[in-house]
Amino acid sequence: MTNQDWIRRDLSVLWHPCTQMKDHEQLPLIPIRRGKGVWLEDFDGRRYLDAISSWWVNIFGHANPRINARITTQLGELEHALLAGFGHAPAIELAERLVDITPAGLTRVFFADNGSAAVEVALKMSFHYWRNRGQTQKTKFISLTNSYHGETLGALAVGDVALYKETYQPLLMPVISVASPDCYAREAGESCADYSRRQFAEMEATLTRHADEACAVIVEPLVQCAGNMRMYDPVYLQLLREACDRHGVHLIADEIAVGFGRTGTLFACEQADIRPDFMCLSKGLTGGYLPLAVVMTTDDIYDAFYADYDTLRAFLHSHSYTGNPLGCAAGLATLDIFAEDDVLGNNRRLAQVMADATADLVDHPHVAEVRQRGMILAIEMVRDKASRAPYDWRERRGLRVYKHALKEGMLLRPLGNVIYFMPPYVITEEQIHQLVRVAREGIDIATRDCTEA
Ligand SMILES: *Cc1c(COP(=O)(O)O)cnc(C)c1O
Repeated sequence: MTNQDWIRRDLSVLWHPCTQMKDHEQLPLIPIRRGKGVWLEDFDGRRYLDAISSWWVNIFGHANPRINARITTQLGELEHALLAGFGHAPAIELAERLVDITPAGLTRVFFADNGSAAVEVALKMSFHYWRNRGQTQKTKFISLTNSYHGETLGALAVGDVALYKETYQPLLMPVISVASPDCYAREAGESCADYSRRQFAEMEATLTRHADEACAVIVEPLVQCAGNMRMYDPVYLQLLREACDRHGVHLIADEIAVGFGRTGTLFACEQADIRPDFMCLSKGLTGGYLPLAVVMTTDDIYDAFYADYDTLRAFLHSHSYTGNPLGCAAGLATLDIFAEDDVLGNNRRLAQVMADATADLVDHPHVAEVRQRGMILAIEMVRDKASRAPYDWRERRGLRVYKHALKEGMLLRPLGNVIYFMPPYVITEEQIHQLVRVAREGIDIATRDCTEA
């Protein structure tokens, strides 16, 4: 079986995620046969360096022997059992270890089976907490512009990426939106910290006005990943934590993309030294192996639900594969790797290599900004450098980078006009240099207009 055979069968039955299927009349689909480390290999034997960690989930490479072994062992014991009325060692152990490594005070772990579901859980829990405490007027959520929290209706409602959201607007609950602290919009000469602090004024005013009706503020700490990898300063999170406490509003940290070492610390909240009321984790939680998610919360939240059954205060929410043992085993193996290897130290070194290798790209005539937070590096292409006027989205410049990278054996998947690296932590220095070379060529090709040729 070759690529062509699989492509024909694929296109006759599959409907791919986040895809205009008609694109595949022009754009070849790539059937993957196997993976190893940073590499994905197709059925014609071509290899692609997975520079975006297969949608930000993979952290220790494909077919990692340590994670494989743990899942294999678990498979011999228990593949799945329900988590209501029953428990099992992998879920209990993983919950204990997550309590140990997340910010102090996050003592309760509620399992879900994907990131969007975790966001739904956090939103419902926050709302339900206030209701159980008699504050039934609290029914709204506050979120940031340019944020992303998943695709299910509640998660989509608190997100703000127009491309995914706009069509479904009539189905979505109204949310209170506050301008993002994203530093791309800062004035020339203004520091990112100053800009994020300045942007906080709107959040403070919104909390003052809406505290009575607001359940929670939901944010992606430090990096708005799906929102074109826009970044902001930790000071915003410090101010937000303090203000949420003062106004009696919960803080939900959606660390689904930024958790597990992506931003330089194990969790992004650590850089602001804050503890949210809810922390959502998924993606890297299983090393990128299996769908699993958790919502971590506090004793205070938990206690508001703990009562006699007939008070009807319980959180009656569930998903079929909640706390799946194979997923939990992958999670435990992932945490073992963090515990045994100096992952964060190694990431600091790799992040520096990425920074050095891309440093001169800011001088490119069609690059407005190169920004980085730990193991996430993003390059923003613009039509006009001085005014930062973006390229028209219909031109699909990022797609040109994608196609060039594929030809060169690299999987880059730009978000609009933003090219980014978010590689597995097992990438080598040499591979980073190859990646940057290909990205640089891709940017040249994508920003070259026929008139300039
Ligand atoms: C990916 C993502 C989600 C949604 O997770 P899924 O598992 O894709 O549903 C939510 N929030 C953030 C910040 C994400 O990056």
